[in-house]
Amino acid sequence: MIRGSTELVAIVGSPIAQVKSPENFNTWFAANGRDLAMIAIDLRDNALDAFLASLRGWRNLRGCVVTVPYKQSLAGRLDGLSARAAALRSVNVIRRDADGRLLGDNVDGEGFLNAARAQGFDARGKRALVLGAGGVGSAIAYALAEAGVSRLLLADPGAERLSALAELLGKAFPALTIDTGYASLEGLDLLVNASPVGMGDSGELPLPAALLDGLRPATLVADVVTAPEITPLLAAARARGCAIQSGAQMARAQLGNLGAFMGVTPLEI
Ligand code: NAD
Repeated sequence: MIRGSTELVAIVGSPIAQVKSPENFNTWFAANGRDLAMIAIDLRDNALDAFLASLRGWRNLRGCVVTVPYKQSLAGRLDGLSARAAALRSVNVIRRDADGRLLGDNVDGEGFLNAARAQGFDARGKRALVLGAGGVGSAIAYALAEAGVSRLLLADPGAERLSALAELLGKAFPALTIDTGYASLEGLDLLVNASPVGMGDSGELPLPAALLDGLRPATLVADVVTAPEITPLLAAARARGCAIQSGAQMARAQLGNLGAFMGVTPLEI
């Protein structure tokens, strides 16, 4: 029940009907007796500036989760950014401070790492391949670098995106070895699909099928795609004896990070 006293958080994107955050947050708020609610906002892009002006003045709104396609366009319009959001030029969560200032962070990478840690993965000194240098791939690569991987292989058919990410990471983490491209999956501790390939019923793999023969059971294989939960890549990895991590696990593992940044949940929920 939303009452006059209820404090709000929001999720903004377009389209919005597919997002799971409102169910997840509202279930937690109800189960924990909090007078809080999350609403979903499907926003037109020509309304972004007016939306931010409203957020600044919206006194019973604590914050807003940001999803596709506004993670980059909103980042440049806020009053402050975390170091990682500034480096990535992308936000997936905004906090509204009591004075109306809007501060942004990007916790996609933390969500990914939380889920991986829950399986016993420790990034320090490890070798990881991230497929996709877009919004979520960049956030995951940044979080892996911050958590201490020693070697990061990056791949994306978009050459500019790929070199921009390699340059950004090279500056932020000078000790990290970065390769753009990969020839095999041998010797990897972690393989991440951070591209949309494998979504829906496409049945597609984000890499050449022949390379899967080089995958060893000790490699953790992760996907960001949430539907289907077991993507063709995850199915192939599981068949080869690898531990797997789904996009749904990653999304669930960052709820506490999103809620804590907005000040409406503890970090671990
Ligand atoms: P994006 O468009 O910013 O980036 C996708 C990138 O993947 C592009 O740069 C594209 O060139 C690249 N790509 C395409 N095919 C590739 C391949 N075969 N190998 C390597 N790179 C390839 O999109 P995004 O915002 O980063 O989102 C990517 C996916 O992540 C979407 O499916 C989105 O739904 C999902 N996502 C999941 C979570 C979660 O919590 N599970 C969070 C955010 C996004």
